[in-house]
Amino acid sequence: MGKVYLTGAGPGDIELLTLKALRVIREADVVIYDRLANPEILKEAKNGCEFVYVGKEDGRHIMPQDQINETIYQNALKYDSVVRLKGGDPFVFGRGGEEAAYLFDRGIKFEIIPGITSAVSAPAYAGIPVTHRGVAVSFRVVTGHESPDKESSQIPWENFKTDDTIVFLMGLHNLPKITKKLIEVGKAPDFPCAVISRGTTQEQKVIIGTLENIVDKAKETPTPALIVVGKVVELREQLQWFEE
Ligand code: SAH
Repeated sequence: MGKVYLTGAGPGDIELLTLKALRVIREADVVIYDRLANPEILKEAKNGCEFVYVGKEDGRHIMPQDQINETIYQNALKYDSVVRLKGGDPFVFGRGGEEAAYLFDRGIKFEIIPGITSAVSAPAYAGIPVTHRGVAVSFRVVTGHESPDKESSQIPWENFKTDDTIVFLMGLHNLPKITKKLIEVGKAPDFPCAVISRGTTQEQKVIIGTLENIVDKAKETPTPALIVVGKVVELREQLQWFEE
């Protein structure tokens, strides 16, 4: 019986992979991966390493999660070293917890290798710090996958009135509803907002706007993309560095 490494691949820039992730990828007998921000990482695997694609895109699963869980388990029965490679950090909307629990229930050993999450690094490459003294004392990372008009929504929209930073992942298709909801709960229509597409890669695109106009400005933005809502967005004017 093998061991499974639930490994964060980072947000896209290959150099944002951790040394630990790189080591287990080089030693892996099989790598089970998503639609990664950077497939170049797979070139680090040894000769003869197997690759299993269980693609996911923007929260829409190509392979159902229970089938992914079973695939990881079956590979752990077959190989000594199994890397389950996930974009960003495996525990930030990556369902890494579910995969680890599935292995735990079946007596398979695993390790979690955190990765650099897009939620913080894409804003950083856009020159937007998620916290900043005197501007934002906290930040939240929220799923944008759930429609804000859903009756049973677990998202505490009423708490989002403050000036603190909100990062929505998987939210581009819900951008019109998210911005509308934030205005409804009391945020100013001219509150700063950004959409960051393909963050940390050579194709990074940053769109700056307000809750009122970001939907128009961000039309046809390529995925993956995330949404940053907060006064910190204004700091980009001074802190922009990556695109230069
Ligand atoms: N575990 C991942 C997030 C998985 S959810 C992490 O920690 O980054 C997938 C969502 O992450 C996408 O819908 C998008 O909102 C965001 N995302 C991932 N990579 C991104 C990138 N390079 N630029 C912008 N957003 C990204």
